[in-house]
Amino acid sequence: MKRLSPKKKVLLIDKNNKVAVGNTAKSAALYRNLFSSQTSQNLANSSISYYESIADKISMKELGYFWMFSGEDYQKSKTGLNKLDAKKDRFEILSVEDMPENLKINTTESDEFSEVESILYGHRCGSLSAIKLARNYATQFQKLGGEIQVHVEIKKINLTNSDQFFPSWKDISMKSITDQNGVNYIAEDFIFAIGAWTQSMLAPIGIASQIYPQKRQMFTLKIKPDQIALDTKQRIPILILPTGGVYIKPVLQNSLIMVGSANELGNPYQMDTNPPTAEEGYFKNAIEPVLNHYFPQLKDYSLFSKWAGYYAYYWPDKNPVIEKISNIQWVSGTSGSGIMKADAIGRIAAARDLDLETIELFDKTKFQVADLSLKKRNVDTEELII
Ligand SMILES: Cc1cc2nc3c(=O)[nH]c(=O)nc-3n(C[C@H](O)[C@H](O)[C@H](O)COP(=O)(O)OP(=O)(O)OC[C@H]3O[C@@H](n4cnc5c(N)ncnc54)[C@H](O)[C@@H]3O)c2cc1C
Repeated sequence: MKRLSPKKKVLLIDKNNKVAVGNTAKSAALYRNLFSSQTSQNLANSSISYYESIADKISMKELGYFWMFSGEDYQKSKTGLNKLDAKKDRFEILSVEDMPENLKINTTESDEFSEVESILYGHRCGSLSAIKLARNYATQFQKLGGEIQVHVEIKKINLTNSDQFFPSWKDISMKSITDQNGVNYIAEDFIFAIGAWTQSMLAPIGIASQIYPQKRQMFTLKIKPDQIALDTKQRIPILILPTGGVYIKPVLQNSLIMVGSANELGNPYQMDTNPPTAEEGYFKNAIEPVLNHYFPQLKDYSLFSKWAGYYAYYWPDKNPVIEKISNIQWVSGTSGSGIMKADAIGRIAAARDLDLETIELFDKTKFQVADLSLKKRNVDTEELII
């Protein structure tokens, strides 16, 4: 916004003591360009291009994704894969016979766990530091004259009509917010980029954002690296196992692996505690059996650390929502891929605020701003789902 409209006075507030210590700091901060939906491709590809231009500053590591499929799941993903171009999108399809000998993975099935039949090996995928990335934007924003105030928690949104009996023929807008100390912040426009807190903040003022929080947990294990790979000095990609959406980021030089999993049905869409806790019971039930099956040699490991955060889920298509009513805009619904798409989301959100119809993303792709709105949404279905 400051770049497109330098004279605009922009104040960024956050309830925490720093920027980017909300769910951004809880993420695995992995990125991938492999999506079948055109929307996701545009958002991720252009963001990754920007990140590549500042790779050293944000500790970006192109580790690759080693995405393993059972025979059945591979068939289901084929329509999605056919929308990608192996050369342009930099991936290979391997069969189980091509499994690198270095990896000590059991590729056979059991009653509960699927076999590994095919592997989508994506090269333009990896990890970065989400905190460094967010701080990089914060610094650029301040250099352009943007202001940041932390420790400011929005406690109340003040509309021009404050009671529920307002006459509906009169225009309503937002005039201010009140923080925890009773201080009012008045502005012409308000943009809520509050991730998992969107619905609870906006529902009371009559906005149905349809974005819900869902807890996701991460566990780091101290392991003996030679139980995962023969040569532990070789670069190991991020491993996505064929069952339970379990993914592993190996940090073998530190004898660690970071493990997460995708659990949806049965996992409530609500914020129970804040901050949320990662539960060992979840690790034991939903992750450990999968690890034990695919890495039978992995033994005597210990839980090194654990944490949990909230996805801000827009359930229908799991892509971000950028919508505005009156002078109130919200940017959320990043659904677990908000880091890898952040650069594009920021540009589109700025364009929405400035009432632009299209915006050029970092890689020069033209994006229709309304495509991420709710009212004129135009997002195609994703067929490559972890
Ligand atoms: C376990 C886990 C793993 C993930 N892994 C990945 C991954 O590998 N790759 C990826 O791309 N994405 C991943 N994500 C998703 C990613 O973290 C989010 O998409 C992204 O961080 C969303 O950023 P955000 O700025 O919208 O939200 P947040 O980072 O949550 O920021 C919202 C901000 O709003 C502030 N706020 C809220 N309420 C108020 C209030 N009342 N007053 C003032 N301030 C307020 C909060 O303090 C916070 O700083 C993961 C998420 C989790 C939980």
